[in-house]
Amino acid sequence: MTTPILHRAPWVVPVAGPALPDGAVLVRAGRIVETGPFAALTGKYPDAGLREHPGRALTPALINAHIHLELSHLFITALKERVAGFTDWIATLLDLRLSHQATGDEIEAAARAVLARQQEQGVIALGDIGNTDLGSRLAPEFSGFLRHFQEFLGRSAKTRRSVQAQLAAMPDDRLCCAHAPYSTHPELIRSLKERARRLRHPFPIHVAEPDSEAEMLSRGSGELFSFLDGRRFLEHPYQPPAPIDNPGSVRYLHDLGILDPLTICVHAVHVAPEEIRILADTGARVCLCPGSNRYLGVGTAPVAAYLASGILPALGTDSVASNPELSLWREMRLLRADHTAIEPAQVFAMATLGGAVALGLAEECGSLSPGRTGRMLAIPLREECKSAAQLYDLLTRFNHNLQPEWVND
Ligand SMILES: [Zn+2]
Repeated sequence: MTTPILHRAPWVVPVAGPALPDGAVLVRAGRIVETGPFAALTGKYPDAGLREHPGRALTPALINAHIHLELSHLFITALKERVAGFTDWIATLLDLRLSHQATGDEIEAAARAVLARQQEQGVIALGDIGNTDLGSRLAPEFSGFLRHFQEFLGRSAKTRRSVQAQLAAMPDDRLCCAHAPYSTHPELIRSLKERARRLRHPFPIHVAEPDSEAEMLSRGSGELFSFLDGRRFLEHPYQPPAPIDNPGSVRYLHDLGILDPLTICVHAVHVAPEEIRILADTGARVCLCPGSNRYLGVGTAPVAAYLASGILPALGTDSVASNPELSLWREMRLLRADHTAIEPAQVFAMATLGGAVALGLAEECGSLSPGRTGRMLAIPLREECKSAAQLYDLLTRFNHNLQPEWVND
């Protein structure tokens, strides 16, 4: 039988419970058996091997719940001319995707480099969205959980028929999702969600990222509507699918029957108070992308209201097409800068447990609870932390050069 190892550190951050000074985590055969004060665990498990992590905090590895690996070669954020808002960004992304002469190998190499960097930064699980199967091909190389969702969008009857045919041929273990209410016909969103619900798969969808989405859905007007209409993307005549008094995209998805605990509303920036109640009542998940939101200038999500409603959001970086740096550490820092009243402990919980719950991985990772993976992080603390509050403050304001160490056994 494998000898259990007792990992001891000045601070242990279980996330599912309070931070422990002079804490310990007992790991046997790659799984956590117990987390608690060192004094208690060393007495209870006298035969365990001891591994000390001086000057470090032991924490769960991070979860990046929203990324697009297949866009890793499209550095829109590095372009000289900054995009002028959401629709300009879509136009730039579409044009760049068409004009970029990247080969499949180059795209794959860029995605692989992003994935390696995520791992170096302490990410154990990702929710990857793509229109190709690149993410699922890379999944076996990632020593963690790479959940790849094949994304569909489109509004025409022809596209809907084609997607239905593809879905019918899709193996049950492939995860599929819809892009966004503005880009995807309601019947297509419904079919994709029905498949995900039948298979008990998580179902991410971009929701309420620009404020013009709600106006398009309920009135058939506004910046997003004009942009898509100008690109001949919309069916004619376009019938706004939501009633005129619709407050937003979350209400719209609720009326479509899409929201349940397996649905992940990504971005969820422009969400009215009554819609936050809907999210809380249905148990739908939220994934915030503060870095991408900031770059695109779409606003900030109502994070305090989510937390007050009992919703623990997940965090995602989105891709290099809308975020100059893909780092969950930076996302935590930006979230705190945008929402100064939020407790740092809650921000750290978003980057770990929130993501694990959203991706259906909470039994595997996201906390240092019994049964979870023993692959955790040992984070060098640059200053002595005298209180849990000081520790969480430090953990959520690291800059990009942080190199956490992996604890692998
Ligand atoms: Zn996205």
